[in-house]
Amino acid sequence: MNGRIPDRRCVGCGLVRPRTEMVRIIVDGDRGAVLDVKMRLGGRGAYLCRNRRCLDKALDRGLLARALRHPLFSAPEAGGPARERFLAQVRGELDGQACL
Ligand SMILES: [Zn+2]
Repeated sequence: MNGRIPDRRCVGCGLVRPRTEMVRIIVDGDRGAVLDVKMRLGGRGAYLCRNRRCLDKALDRGLLARALRHPLFSAPEAGGPARERFLAQVRGELDGQACL
């Protein structure tokens, strides 16, 4: 490995980039989708480029849920407050970065 940064594929656009240029998202049982800010949470993760377009595309087409093999939010939270919190958090993270 030699400390090399592993590449990951963006579930939005399909581009492969160094992991450090991406955001990681996991599904944590009861809480639903969570932004793994420090990339240390366990479980199956999905990666996105640090830009809003990839996030929107992944959400619109259900690509995140498919990559995670799990609905992002289980009913009755689906489309509710948990989803809004998650989106606000991810968008905040993306906006804080230089995009593309
Ligand atoms: Zn992307």
